[in-house]
Amino acid sequence: MTQQNRSTYVITDPIQILAALVGLKDVTVLHLERRGPDVELAVEQRIGEVRCPTCGVLAQVKDRPLVRYIDLPVYGSPMRLCWKKHRMRCANRRCPKRSWVLSDHRIAAKNCLLTTRAAKWATRQIGDGRTVKEVAAELACDWHTVNDAVTTYGEALLEADRKRLNQTSAIGLDETSFVHLAGQRTDYATTVADVEHHSIIDILPSRNYVDVAAWLDKQPKAWKERIEYGALDMSATYAAVYNVVLPQAAQVVDPFHVISLANRCLDAIRRRVQVEQLGHRGRRDDPLYRARRLLLMGEEKLSDEATERLASLLALGDPGAEVAIAYRVKERLRDFYRTTDPDEAEAMLLELEEHCTKKAMPPEIRRLGRTIKHWFAKIVNFHLARVSNGPTEALNNLIKRIKRIGFGFRNFQNYRIRALLYAGKPNWRVLGSIVVR
Ligand SMILES: [Zn+2]
Repeated sequence: MTQQNRSTYVITDPIQILAALVGLKDVTVLHLERRGPDVELAVEQRIGEVRCPTCGVLAQVKDRPLVRYIDLPVYGSPMRLCWKKHRMRCANRRCPKRSWVLSDHRIAAKNCLLTTRAAKWATRQIGDGRTVKEVAAELACDWHTVNDAVTTYGEALLEADRKRLNQTSAIGLDETSFVHLAGQRTDYATTVADVEHHSIIDILPSRNYVDVAAWLDKQPKAWKERIEYGALDMSATYAAVYNVVLPQAAQVVDPFHVISLANRCLDAIRRRVQVEQLGHRGRRDDPLYRARRLLLMGEEKLSDEATERLASLLALGDPGAEVAIAYRVKERLRDFYRTTDPDEAEAMLLELEEHCTKKAMPPEIRRLGRTIKHWFAKIVNFHLARVSNGPTEALNNLIKRIKRIGFGFRNFQNYRIRALLYAGKPNWRVLGSIVVR
């Protein structure tokens, strides 16, 4: 019973209300039922003439199997959609086609246990950073059921969203490792980031030259030509990829990696001096052990009191001043990144490199000096480009979060799709028109 009142509709028939909620043409709502905590909504398709897809002869309804799907919750109650399907039979006795079930992708895709609207909703939730576990709890279903649906719809979205490859002038290549929970094996992936727009372009299941170069090479020519800067960690592989595939791009070593190299150098010296001085690895009361956190902090972040404490701990534990030298090197490198004038910065780095490679320096510092020398131009390029893999690093942290969330991750595609939904900035408007049959 529908009354039209200018622009508003008033529906009073309960079945029509449900039909309006389902919102699909040619789908009839049969009934609504409460089963324990679940609400079950039974629907069927309105069908006309159905012909055999093989021979074209008019088909008959053989039987009506009832298939249950997970739908969006209604007012906090888990909802199940019971679809009373039509299994058809060909009337032509000589036809090889025996029977088939009619489907409707608008209700639910084949092999998907979620209704189409629930699957799209779940995909969006994962893109907003919710976990599969949370979404599965809300839908009152199994983790795998949600994960499978999100993988299917996520893949379709990323495939359909062709404009995702933004025009960019700066990309970054960065290595991500992930450990298989079962096998204790570590695998490596390469994250390709749009450093300019702070999003992940893709994740490749490899860090090998051939695979990464091949991926970059097959991208559109116009896109590749536009790239002016290629950010990287100090990886010879990624440098080679840029040299060959994007020779016009200036390579920029990511500051994060340079600073962490200096921090690792400082830490290695602290541990060596500790053993040389006391004959054992750091214990709670040892001065160098107590200084370890202060050493890794930025000098400007230390209070006067902390600065004094650090000085006295070093006076006790570091008589040869090797740790103190490494600390100054680390701080000098941080000064280098704070300098805004490119010429001044270059002069600073050159001075630091010469300082580090002096024969009298501890071996760890000389090694750091050689690394700086090897990557000198690409480190200095930071001051010209002012781009870095930093955003990639932040995005990698998001991926790491997903890796933690994604307990039981085995399948790389699975990982890739979820990371791209989360940090790849897909065009969510495309999701509405995605069809999975
Ligand atoms: Zn037939």
